[in-house]
Amino acid sequence: MRLFSATLATETNTFSPLPTSLASYQESVFYRPGEHPTDAPRMCTAPLFVARARAAAEGFTLIEGSCFAASPAGTTNRADYEFMRDEILDQLRAALPLDGVLLGLHGAMVAHGYDDTEGDLLERARDIVGKDCVIGVELDPHCHLTLKRVRNADVIILYKEFPHTDVADRAEELLTLVLAAIRKQIKPVMSVFDCRQIGSYPTTLPLMRGFVDRMKAMEGKEGILSISIGHCFPYADVPELGGRILVVTDADKAKADFLAREIGEEFIAMRGRTAPEYMSVAIATNAFPVVMADPADNAGGGAPTDNTTILRELIARDAQDAALGPIWDPIAVRLCFDAGEGATFPLRFGGKTGPASGPPMDGLVTVTKLARDCLQSFGPTQVPLGNCAAIRVGGVSVVLIDNRTQALGLELFRNVGIEPTEQKLLVVKSTNHFMGAYGPIAKKVIYVDADGPLSRDYTKIPYTRVNRPIWPLDQDTTPGLIF
Ligand SMILES: [Zn+2]
Repeated sequence: MRLFSATLATETNTFSPLPTSLASYQESVFYRPGEHPTDAPRMCTAPLFVARARAAAEGFTLIEGSCFAASPAGTTNRADYEFMRDEILDQLRAALPLDGVLLGLHGAMVAHGYDDTEGDLLERARDIVGKDCVIGVELDPHCHLTLKRVRNADVIILYKEFPHTDVADRAEELLTLVLAAIRKQIKPVMSVFDCRQIGSYPTTLPLMRGFVDRMKAMEGKEGILSISIGHCFPYADVPELGGRILVVTDADKAKADFLAREIGEEFIAMRGRTAPEYMSVAIATNAFPVVMADPADNAGGGAPTDNTTILRELIARDAQDAALGPIWDPIAVRLCFDAGEGATFPLRFGGKTGPASGPPMDGLVTVTKLARDCLQSFGPTQVPLGNCAAIRVGGVSVVLIDNRTQALGLELFRNVGIEPTEQKLLVVKSTNHFMGAYGPIAKKVIYVDADGPLSRDYTKIPYTRVNRPIWPLDQDTTPGLIF
């Protein structure tokens, strides 16, 4: 038995001022065969890792292809996408004959000329491997679950948790189903229900927690192989954006259709009740001691992460014992390294990349700590922060980074000598992934509605190409089975 695995992944915010090029992938995940790290998966590479670990026991040969993944930002350069895609497809061709293919994709990657890169890759892969080869795909729930993907894959599984703490668990399930299909023990069939809605669905809140737990309890029984909830990725101007439910059953299309519709209707009934309450900047900055999230400037959604609005408000109110991070500003990091630890000097930082970055901060800052090549943890994975500088401005400590990413692990602060548990207020730029590490140490968590580029009010996003009607842009929608 022969299986092939590869990864091509990013989450594209088509409104972001930061273009994504091959260099963006080289800075994050760029592993050719023979170069894959052996300690842990990187971003979307869990299918390859899981398959490698189980190959001997399950009796198959794994052919390892290339894995490319970039941090969320703007649209990927067309030639660079085609280069990475064609490298993977050439490897696939060279690996024939194959019984199975495992792809670790994100599912919201857009390249110039390609609204649906994953659908494009899958369609070409299917042409190469033929109809009898079993193709399994793992996606992030912040994906566009397009028809082209469902038509060309045999099994698709999305992560269930947000924060995404179950990337490896879902990859294990994917491999189990793909192997069972190759062995003819099951015949997966998929149904997709389009809920016609845009929303945010953290599974750390009770309503969504219960919903996901019920889905999990149904799996593995009565021919139900897998249930996935596509949240959608709101910051992309592509036609097939929107929440979709995917059900995989064992050779029972009618059951998959029925369940997808039933779950989809329940998901629709939850509209407007799944996201946390967002406070205004003025109220939130008065509510110590808390962990405060700034989702509107989350690098994980493609934002630059250099908006200064909350920091400005904290300084204006003379907040003390507060820390904020990260702010992505490679130039300011360089200036801090040039000034040196302990230096007090006038620094302009943040507020650079686009209109939604707001104005830069100007202040007399003290460089309290410098550290090179830092990492932070996210579940089992390590995420690079690059060179980091901790500065003190008024009573607020700020972590400047030169490798753009969101707040995930406590090391973001600890690397540069700031102890998160000793702060009265911690401000983290992240939508919900921060909850894995910061939830357990927080006395209280507040979500702020600031003016960064990722508006929580979807009606303010300047879509031009999204299929309508869709909630909450439109009140009357027509949900239904689409596959
Ligand atoms: Zn996601």
